[in-house]
This record gives sequence, structure tokens and C-alpha cells, in this order.
Amino acid sequence: MKHIKVVAFDADDTLWVNEPYFRKTEEAFYKLLEGYASLHDMERELLKTELDNIPLYGYGVKGFVLSMIEAAMRITNGTLTQETIAQIIVLGKAMLNEPIELLDGVEDVLKNLQGRYKLVVATKGDLLDQERKLRKSDLTKYFHHVEIMSEKDDANYLKLIRHLDIQPQELLMVGNSLKSDVLPVLNVGGYAIHVPYHITWVHETINHTVENKRLATVESIGEVLKFL
Ligand SMILES: [Mg+2]
Repeated sequence: MKHIKVVAFDADDTLWVNEPYFRKTEEAFYKLLEGYASLHDMERELLKTELDNIPLYGYGVKGFVLSMIEAAMRITNGTLTQETIAQIIVLGKAMLNEPIELLDGVEDVLKNLQGRYKLVVATKGDLLDQERKLRKSDLTKYFHHVEIMSEKDDANYLKLIRHLDIQPQELLMVGNSLKSDVLPVLNVGGYAIHVPYHITWVHETINHTVENKRLATVESIGEVLKFL
């Protein structure tokens, strides 16, 4: 991949652990509301509420907390107590205070690529929360630019490419989500390396395989170096 000038990394579940914290919080949420509905119905209600709210709140913990409260109102049939609301808010704040756990090999990869490529973070989520995570991760020193996008779609990747003053084929995106990190990048003419993570939010999954000569799939982030 000699033509690559910029290597962009997704953050959540690519550089550091994220989705397991959502799973842990969801489990605590279902436990809080135990007895009001079946687990299946609660899961369905929460997911539906989250997806309905994405256009309004975007991605991230704050929107997730509002969605939990809203879903809880419906799950409890309007009998949600102030105490339960308070507990949901505590769950959300705990997520915002979780430690940053880097995934294996991340720092080695960044060290190796630094100086040879322009390194960028391209992530979505709450601006403040992602800034906090980057700061705590101690990885900021490796990055030339951090792009926090409201949605990882074709238009926003094109904006990033223009901002970086490169051609689409000079961008390589590394990430765990086919939907957010791979497909839109391939659509606009860039290259992608998919590093699947063992847990994926259902909203990030796609039910077809992706084959493209500009895409490679690896098992761990360290293997990215084979291509660069
Ligand atoms: Mg991710």
C-alpha cells in the first residue's frame, strides 16, 4: 500500500475497550427493571428507543442514558420511580468514569507507523467523552488530527479527506465496524482494514459479506503492519 499517506483509526473497540461497558450497563439496567417485562421485551424496547433517538442525540453515553430512562418509562408502564431514574443516571455516570483499557498491540502499531504516515483518529460519539478517553489513553501524541464525527457516512469521510488535503486512495481506515469504518470508506474510494472485535452492537452489524480489493481483514491490530 505504497500510495497510503494517512492511516485513520477508529477509537472504540479498535484502540480501546468500549462495547463491553455498554453490555455491562445494559445488564444492570435490566436488573433494575426485573419483573416489569421479559428480558427479551426489555432488550427490544431499549434498542428501539436508542435507534429512534440517534438522529436527535447522536452516539455516545449521554444519549444512551436518556434512552434508558425513556425505555424504562415504557417498560414500567409509566410507574418508573424517581429512585430508579437516579440509579440509571448513576449507571451512566459510571460509564463516563470507566478506565481506558487499550487493546493489545495498539501502542506498538502507533509507534511503528508514527513518522511514516500521518495518523488520525476518526470516531463518533460524544465530543467531550471521546476527548476524555483520548486524554486518558495517553495516545494523543501519536495523532496529527482527531476527527469526531456525528455519523460515519460517505459525506463525512469525504469531508475528512478534503480536510487532510489527500486523495481518497491515499486514506487507509482501520476499524472494527464494517458499517462505520469500512463500507463508507470503500464507497468514497479509500482503503480499509477491518479488525473485528468480539462484541459488536447490533446497530453496527451488517448481514452481508463485503468483498473489495481495497479491503483487508485481520484478526488483531498488530497485523496492520503487514500492509504498511
Ligand atoms: Mg468502533
